[in-house]
Amino acid sequence: MSDPFQYDLIVIGAGSGGVRLARTAAARGARVAIVESRYLGGTCVNVGCVPKKLFVYASHVREELEDAGGYGFSVPDGALCFDWGTLVANKDREIERLNGIYGRLLDNAGVTLINGTARVTGPQQVTVGDQHYSAERIAVAVGGWPVIPDVSGSEHVLTSNDMFYLKQLPASAVVWGGGYIAVEFASILAGLGVNVRLIHRGDRLLRGFDDDVRDFVADEMRKKGVEISLGHNIQAVTRTGDLYTVTLENGESEEAGMLMAATGRKPLLAGLGLDALDLTLNEDGSVKVNDQFQTSVPSIYALGDVIGTPQLTPIAIAQAMVLSRNLFGDGKGVMHYDNIPTAVFCQPSIGTVGLTEAQARERHGAIRIYRTEFKPMKHTLSGRDERILMKLIVDDASDRVVGAHMVGPEAGEMMQGIAVAMKAGATKADFDDTVGIHPTSAEEFVTLRELHSR
Ligand code: NDP
Repeated sequence: MSDPFQYDLIVIGAGSGGVRLARTAAARGARVAIVESRYLGGTCVNVGCVPKKLFVYASHVREELEDAGGYGFSVPDGALCFDWGTLVANKDREIERLNGIYGRLLDNAGVTLINGTARVTGPQQVTVGDQHYSAERIAVAVGGWPVIPDVSGSEHVLTSNDMFYLKQLPASAVVWGGGYIAVEFASILAGLGVNVRLIHRGDRLLRGFDDDVRDFVADEMRKKGVEISLGHNIQAVTRTGDLYTVTLENGESEEAGMLMAATGRKPLLAGLGLDALDLTLNEDGSVKVNDQFQTSVPSIYALGDVIGTPQLTPIAIAQAMVLSRNLFGDGKGVMHYDNIPTAVFCQPSIGTVGLTEAQARERHGAIRIYRTEFKPMKHTLSGRDERILMKLIVDDASDRVVGAHMVGPEAGEMMQGIAVAMKAGATKADFDDTVGIHPTSAEEFVTLRELHSR
């Protein structure tokens, strides 16, 4: 009997999760097509993690040059120049290189790339333009898109997507929101010399992070020149030439060269046709899946930012690996979401893994907190007033480290190794038994002997 389907799998969306799923499924012998309407690599490669990190590097340079004074280097007055256009052009070249790599990865794996906007026109049919494609299974990996709150003048509001292609850097900017993207872009802009005010409706930045981290990072960001206004929201924005007037709900107004909203992202489902299939959604509008990434329509799967799990590239990739193994390999695994390390590239950066103090108290009852704050060795000569925070949270009954948090340079680099230890069930005694690397900041994590609180 001939196969009724053209493909075993059609993946919609060539971002981190979609590309990994398509490649690994094809490597297991499946006939796979992937449909993409915009760019290869998705948010992470094009308007997220990768270009953001390049901008983060750029925004550190001025500070490095200032710090160089204490080490005997100096830049003569007026000699320092920064050209935004050069940074954007160099970034664009790198992203194009990565787009090419993604294309070749798909090609080498034997995946058919279909350029265009996909509509799911049946449980096993995808339409792109006037072409219909059939597949035994469909995987939706379309990701998310920034949301701008519905305020008067919202057409003047930029999002993180726009920041990567700004023609010019303004002298001043308002950043709206208090999550990952808001603190990262406020830091990038401030580091590049822009006068930044961050406006957030909550009484602390970064909901979901440990409260100590949230307070500490706000203090340190303020020291680096970011004005942080908590407990305020934006009501309207008007534009006069290149100047924007941002009006807050308390009637106060602020003039700036730009308003960027970083007020969350939502699944990019519009126009995909899933509503016609009665596919069940979660309350937040993300696609509901079971632990096998299967939606309420059994032939349709979904993964990545579109299913409401943490919106992180390594999560989408890990989900893709589980799904590919389960569908086309010998696996029947599920994804575990405990002890997922994450970094926020604000300045100074945050690295974290495991539970916050509040979560640990709720889950384990009796806990021990070990905590230190100190000035990084580098700044003994540079003179910069910057401090590092490190905190370990230990379940008292088992002695297991259940949370590790840091604010300071290279926090993400440090936290990756600590995440391995925690995944392996390391106790505080294991941390204490580990020999430090001297002189580093990281050694503080294995020399935290004094109990801070319970
Ligand atoms: P987040 O969900 O992290 O933060 C959204 C922020 O906007 C919150 O502070 C929220 O406030 C605020 N907000 C939401 N709605 C409104 C509104 N109507 N009016 C005013 N404020 C509002 O989203 P982001 O856009 O910053 O980032 C999206 C996701 O992308 C992140 O959650 C993260 O998973 C991922 N990401 C990861 C990065 C990394 O790994 N380094 C970097 C960048 C993004 P409140 O807390 O009060 O709800």
